[in-house]
Order: sequence, then structure tokens, then C-alpha cells
Amino acid sequence: MTAAKPLIAQREDGIDVLNPYDGSLVGRVMVSDPDDVDALLTRARQGTALSRALPRHRRAAILEKAARLVDEQSEDFARTIVREAGKTIVQARKETLRCVNTLKLSAEEAKRNAGEIVPFDAYAGSEARQGWFTREPLGIIAAITPYNDPLNLVAHKLGPAIAGGNAVLLKPSELAPFSALKLVETLIKAGLPEAIVTVAIGGAELGRAIVSARDVRMVSFTGGFATGEAISRSAGLKKLAMDLGGNAPVIVMADCNIGKAVEGCVSGGYWAAGQNCIGTQRILVQAACYDRFRDAFVAGTARVVAGDPSSEGTDVGPMISEAAAERAEVAVDEAISGGARLLCGHQRKRAIYSPTVLESVPHDGRLWREEIFAPVVMLERFETLRDAIRLANEPDYSLHAGIFTDNLADALEAAAGIEAGGVMINDSSDYRFDAMPFGGFKHGSMGREGVRFAYEDMTQPKVICINRA
Ligand code: NAD
Repeated sequence: MTAAKPLIAQREDGIDVLNPYDGSLVGRVMVSDPDDVDALLTRARQGTALSRALPRHRRAAILEKAARLVDEQSEDFARTIVREAGKTIVQARKETLRCVNTLKLSAEEAKRNAGEIVPFDAYAGSEARQGWFTREPLGIIAAITPYNDPLNLVAHKLGPAIAGGNAVLLKPSELAPFSALKLVETLIKAGLPEAIVTVAIGGAELGRAIVSARDVRMVSFTGGFATGEAISRSAGLKKLAMDLGGNAPVIVMADCNIGKAVEGCVSGGYWAAGQNCIGTQRILVQAACYDRFRDAFVAGTARVVAGDPSSEGTDVGPMISEAAAERAEVAVDEAISGGARLLCGHQRKRAIYSPTVLESVPHDGRLWREEIFAPVVMLERFETLRDAIRLANEPDYSLHAGIFTDNLADALEAAAGIEAGGVMINDSSDYRFDAMPFGGFKHGSMGREGVRFAYEDMTQPKVICINRA
């Protein structure tokens, strides 16, 4: 696989992107370094003029056509995701379908969300004034994305940015850049003027140089907490959108359908080998059904097939690297030394870490408090819903949560009490639809993705006011 030439400022050297499952070469990609940022910005500035000049019907037509083209080549996109990110083929196909939807939603937004009438006569003395506000592009948006959804998370930034008439300087994860490059090529095939999206591949140093550039008006970042903090330190005076990690709790009440809860939590815990920002990490189970749920959940986990992600029967593929799997293994060892009880899993073969279940995990340890981002799930017993909500809220940050119950009042009490950007009722934390507002509560999270919400973040209102007096 090779990277499309016109898309990146190229150095002579490059990096090898390796398949996390078998270490084979996915492709070599040319990288940019901080010295290239001036050239990247020159191209992006040309992009802002081109993008702003595109009428909304053209932006929509390009995004719609790109959605069609991704759909037509969906198997090829899915196979790219499998090769570079290690997602299973079944999950990669779902990501590709979601990307098609994200692009279609972006096309709708371009046509729909252009501004509003301002009711000037609502203020005494302004009766003779009349006007509206428009939604204007911001200019250059730096989009920085992680490896775990290497296609759809890129679409979540490019789609709304293009719909809003911006130019984008995109730095996808250097670990899995090919899905992003294919998406940009597809947008160009669909008619997008090339300079509207500039792609640069590289690591933290390049990222730092991009986010600190004065001409960048907004940084739209998806990734880990430490990186989010580093970006906020180097970005300076510009708009920041931060889609960071989670440590999702799911509450299981004794009155729920246990079979449905087990099925939801097995999928929510191990989707994408647990490398999922809304993956279920802590399952809080009411004491009256704890043993029953635990036995069924451990049995469900034992049925999960881990292995070759390109095989149709695999449920859990490799983590992004052997080092990432080792980090998960060490965190679990640490929890076990602190008193946690291992119920199943905790076997590692290179980058494949088997789905792992623990109970009695110490609450002052990092497994309980931090994001593990691995196929590791903790079970915890509680008595009352109030206790469960308190436990759910213990970590300092949060993205999604879930509750399984047949009792509407309990469901709504949990929805009100859990501090999270989304509470899924009778579903695991891992449900997301690309049009809904998506983002975190508490430490560090700011802004929302979900096409309409990102589009609004990526545009600025301009008021036009006519004085008829
Ligand atoms: P990461 O933070 O290591 O890297 C994300 C991106 O930031 C990469 O492109 C990386 O090269 C770049 N980067 C690294 N240092 C930088 C710096 N100093 N300045 C600018 N850019 C820099 O994240 P990852 O390991 O690729 O992804 C996993 C993380 O992403 C998890 O924490 C996960 O929860 C989070 N995530 C969040 C969401 C969400 O929507 N909330 C979705 C998916 C993943």
C-alpha cells in the first residue's frame, strides 16, 4: 500500500505501518516534520479560499458523492482498517458503514444549517431593525485523530469541516494512516478541490507544531488525556474541541433481563479489543443478581473468539501493538497484587490479549480510576441504586454509561445522577449513532462531535442587521 503523493508534504524518509496481528508490512508512508508546517499552512490557506467559495450545494454534492464512493468500495476500506488497526473484519465493515452515514449527515448539514433570523424586535428600541446571522467558516481547522477508529473518526472531522466551508490540516494517527488517506483521496475523486484537505503524517512533534501554529483557528482533537493536556498547553489562543477517553460504567439491576445485559456487556467490553473510548470497563451489579450475572458474564467472555482479525469468526483481534497489550497485562497484574480476583482471561500472545474479567478491584488503583483501553472488564457488587450511581461517578472523567433495568423510575434516576455525556438505558455504554451529540463530562472534555454539533463548533455566527429607521 502506498500513500497518495499530492496529499502530504514529503520528506525522503518515511515510516513503516505494521499489521498489529502478524507484524507484516501494511505500507510505507512519507512523513512530515515540524519544519514542514509552514508549507502545510501555505497549502491550507489556499484551501480556505477554495472552501469558502464553494456554494453549499457543491459542498453537499461532494460529500454525498464521497459517501457513495466509500459505500461502493466498502470492502476495500474495511480490509484497510483490519490490516492497519487490527479491528475484526465484521467490526471494520460496521465502521465503514458508519463513515458513509457520517458523510451523508455532513452533506445534509451543509444544506440545512446556514443561520437564523435574529428577532431584533424582541428588544424595546430595536423595532426598526431586522436581520439574521449566518454560519461562517473558521478558516483552518487542525484535525488530530487516534488509531482506534481510523476511518469514521476522521470522517467526523472532515465531514462537518467541509460542510462548514473550512480547510483542514489533518494529522491522522501515524499508527494507522491509510484509512484516512483513502478517505481523503475519495473526497478528491468526489470533486473536493485538493487544497481543502492537507494531510500530514507524523508523531507528537509534528502534532505540537501544527496545533501551535497561529493560523490554525481550531484544533479538533480525538485521543488520550495526556495528549489532550499537551495540546491545550501548546495550542495558545484558539478554539479547542477535545474528545478524550472514558472508563465507562454499566449498572445491572436485579430486575433486568440478565441474558440481554450479559450479551450487551460482552459486546461493550470487548469491541475493538476494548480499544474503544465508550467501551464498558466497570460493570456494577446489584447484589441480588451478582452471582448469576458473574457466572453468565464469565461464560460469555470465555466464548469470545480471539485471533486473526481478518477471519469472519473472530470477535477480538489484536491490540494496536505488543507494547499496548503488555501495558494492559501489567495493569492487571498490578490490580491482582492489590487484591483483585481474576475470573478469566489475562493470557497474552504477542498483541492479542485475551478478554479478561476481574472482581474486587481496589478503587484506589489505576484500573478502577483510569482508562484501561484494553479488553479488561471489572465487576463490582452494590446494594442500592444510589450506591451504584456513586460508584459510577468515582473517576474524574467520563464519556458514556449504561444501565440495565425493567424499572423506568430507576432508569431515569440513573440517567439524572450519572455524570456522563450519554446514558444508555438497556444497552451497554458502547452505543453510538453518528448524529447524536457525543462527548465527555468532567475533566478535560470540551465540545461535542456528532455531525450537527461538530459543524456548529466549526463555524462562527456573523450577524447582519438592517436599520430601517
Ligand atoms: P493519542 O492521544 O496517543 O494520539 C492521538 C493523536 O494525537 C495521534 O494522531 C497522535 O500522533 C497525536 N499526538 C500525540 N501527541 C501529540 C501532541 N503533543 N500534540 C499534538 N498531537 C499529538 O491517542 P491514541 O492512543 O491514538 O488513541 C486512544 C485514545 O483516544 C484513548 O484514550 C481513547 O479513549 C481516545 N478516543 C476518544 C474518542 C472520543 O471520541 N472521545 C474516540 C476514540 C478514541
